[in-house]
Amino acid sequence: MAKNYSSYIEIKSGLTSGEITAEGLVKGYLQQIKANAHLNVFNEVFEDEALASAKDIDARISNGTAGKLAGMVIAIKDNICYKGHKVSASSKILENFTSIYSSTVVERLLAEDAIIIGRCNCDEFAMGAANENSFFGPVKNHADETRVSGGSSGGSAVAVQAGMCHAAIGTDTGGSVRQPAAFCGVIGLKPTYGRISRHGVISYASSFDQVGPLTKSVSDASLLLEILAGTDEYDSTLSQKPVPQHRDFKKDTGKKNIAYLQEALSSPGVDADVKATLTSYIEKLRADGHTVKPISFEYLEYLVPTYYILAMAEASSNLARYDGVHYGYRSPNATDLESTYKLSRSEGFGKEVKRRIMLGTFVLSAGYYDAYYAKAQKVRRLIQNKTNEILADFDFILTPTAPEPAFPLGVKEKDPVVTYLHDIFTVQASLAGMPAISLPAGNNSKGLPLGLQLLAKSFAEQELLNFSEYFLQL
Ligand code: GLN
Repeated sequence: MAKNYSSYIEIKSGLTSGEITAEGLVKGYLQQIKANAHLNVFNEVFEDEALASAKDIDARISNGTAGKLAGMVIAIKDNICYKGHKVSASSKILENFTSIYSSTVVERLLAEDAIIIGRCNCDEFAMGAANENSFFGPVKNHADETRVSGGSSGGSAVAVQAGMCHAAIGTDTGGSVRQPAAFCGVIGLKPTYGRISRHGVISYASSFDQVGPLTKSVSDASLLLEILAGTDEYDSTLSQKPVPQHRDFKKDTGKKNIAYLQEALSSPGVDADVKATLTSYIEKLRADGHTVKPISFEYLEYLVPTYYILAMAEASSNLARYDGVHYGYRSPNATDLESTYKLSRSEGFGKEVKRRIMLGTFVLSAGYYDAYYAKAQKVRRLIQNKTNEILADFDFILTPTAPEPAFPLGVKEKDPVVTYLHDIFTVQASLAGMPAISLPAGNNSKGLPLGLQLLAKSFAEQELLNFSEYFLQL
């Protein structure tokens, strides 16, 4: 098996000294992918292409013309377009669809000589928190194969966890990078809304969707953020703020004001080991001289309903384009235009996606728009304002990433509301558009990874990353 490098810095020095080659790295990851095929991580592995590009990059490393990510082997979530490659969003409706252009994130990775090794399984159209809504079946957690990977970027998280690539790219609408990262013991960063281009990323809920890296080190998360962030003429929602040199991040040992969510310790819905881990970090931070205070978020019970009303409304509009005419699957049983729409959508979408389209159109319908959609928009604003108020007094808000560790496969999918409630800690940053990171915080007694989340002010990624480096060493 290939050596497991925790950061690209180590890989880079090995590549420069000639101790390792990009081709050797790719071969190592391919072996690991084959040995763990039963985890169902990849929808497709770009084997020949990754090997060919590794050879090419090795040549460029030796003549000194290689980019900043030369030899970094990356897996992408299967909702990120890559020209000439299939992209399915793990849906039957896009099963045989090939991208005709590359997303900006893929272009930026390739321009810096990263090697894309394959596209990863995920929940269908990124809707889910367990990767059990994929048309291609669930992804299994490498720490315990009877348990879920988390979702929706489950394949991306396990690819990093199981050493099938060096880093992965996911998308996070309401927690889909952070929660699987927590379930798999890796780092997951959701940047501020408007930091990374969404061009060429299959839309779920456009006012929430953000691309984010899953890595084993803060230095890799920083480097990838720096490469991926910044303006793009194809995404007008991007901020014009200059992108800091994130790769120069420095471990921050300064004394901070940190708020933690009191309900995370008092709520019966939060697992005992998760509470114990949060408590132990609070104590370690206090012992190190930080001010750590409990806060109560007055809109806590509105977070999940507000997120789901808005996300479903946006999804119902975004997914209208899959009609059996423009893209992907067309029902062979259709006889006219109307049956083409109806049958292609009925046969092409999975159960959860259909549920969300129906609920989304319901909350947007004339009779209910004010009661649900408009109301949820107002509550979103209150949540944003309140979060900003808290962050005027505190540097970070600390919570568990998820209320419990990875749960067994097949138990939660039966009740969607139970799964939705699982997003309680991640959706605040998504509703507020703020950056948040999930950091590994050890394992429970069964060996299952646990994650803690830090939420920061908009565009405070640098502060967040600097502090994360310190936090991981607590
Ligand atoms: N679990 C959340 C949902 O199902 C978040 C998914 C995501 O971030 N893509 O919507």
